[in-house]
Amino acid sequence: MTIHEKEGFFGPFGGCFLPEELTQEMSRVAAAYRRLKADPEFINELAYIRKHYQGRPTPVTFAKGLTSLAAGARIYLKREDLNHTGAHKLNHCMGEALLAVKMGKKKLLAETGAGQHGVALATAAAYFGLECEIHMGAVDIAKEKPNVTRMRLLGAKIVPVTSGQQSLKEAVDSAFETYRKEYPTTLYCIGSVVGPHPFPTMVRDFQSVIGQEAREQMLELTGGLPGHVVACVGGGSNAMGLFAGFLEDKDVRLYGVEPLGRGTNPGDHAATLSYGKEGVLHGFKSFLLQDGQGRPAPVYSVASGLDYPGVGPEHAYLKSIGRVSYVTATDQEALDAFYTLCKTDGIIPALESAHAVAYAVKLARGLDKEDSVLVNLSGRGDKDVDFVVSSFGVR
Ligand SMILES: *Cc1c(COP(=O)(O)O)cnc(C)c1O
Repeated sequence: MTIHEKEGFFGPFGGCFLPEELTQEMSRVAAAYRRLKADPEFINELAYIRKHYQGRPTPVTFAKGLTSLAAGARIYLKREDLNHTGAHKLNHCMGEALLAVKMGKKKLLAETGAGQHGVALATAAAYFGLECEIHMGAVDIAKEKPNVTRMRLLGAKIVPVTSGQQSLKEAVDSAFETYRKEYPTTLYCIGSVVGPHPFPTMVRDFQSVIGQEAREQMLELTGGLPGHVVACVGGGSNAMGLFAGFLEDKDVRLYGVEPLGRGTNPGDHAATLSYGKEGVLHGFKSFLLQDGQGRPAPVYSVASGLDYPGVGPEHAYLKSIGRVSYVTATDQEALDAFYTLCKTDGIIPALESAHAVAYAVKLARGLDKEDSVLVNLSGRGDKDVDFVVSSFGVR
């Protein structure tokens, strides 16, 4: 195990904790990214893709109905649900895939839990004509049929993982096994601001387009910056992307909303920064939900994109310096917000994003009418509609 000093750390958090051969490969990825992020050709290519393929910029929408319901501050939504494939994840997948092309790699490799990252990565692979291999627990494959079908249509190879709980953790282990054998021709594409350096920095940079656009759009729409900025936090990529546009604006308050699931008992939630402590998982140091023996704890949320026992190291740092407030929303609060936004503004939010919407309404209610709250609507809820309606009906 080797630890990179300085680069790749956010205070004491982050780093690269991997076996030697993969640590060396991570250094090559970091070096390639450092060079490319200053290369006008790379920057222009990514800008072209965002505009002409992804459909960016995504708009900021004044949520008229939600604002009247809250009867407090004005609520605005950054519409990542309108990004191609219906969520923010394609922002970093297209960046990672372009990096893979520039590094001469032939194949993209990843694990997926609910399948959202797998679909975004399979999309990027198809666009660039790269091979794509997605490792997925057998239990998740059975549960997430539509996403498995989408990945197959997009040309990805699905590797079912049948060890242990047959879920996300085993899929990560399995994908890492393949990576150790294939790294000379393959890039492992991490799905959030987690994992070893350079991924937390690089994925944040790719996602920061959300915050840059939103900052300009708020200035144009309202003549000022929002007083409050809210995003849900699983691994933390959509939140880091939005926050990146406002970190230097000391008067803008930032809130990361973690999933409190069924409540505060261990195993009933995935609120890592609220209830976890420091630890190392999947090659980086951050906050971690752990069991009595220091192993990653079982986690749960109604939103499968949020149920990860770790969190991006930059969030751990932003919490430690008090720049971002980390708060929670329960399953129930998120479901209420899901149904509400459908009716008030004609937008079906992803259950992940509904956590941010739930907190934003609570926040707006306590603020005065001149104030404003900007919420990241990280994805659309089409993927959740069948589950929500079969479990809870149509309200
Ligand atoms: C995956 C996902 C998330 C959670 O991931 P972050 O890295 O925390 O952003 C949130 N919203 C949607 C729609 C997702 O698909």
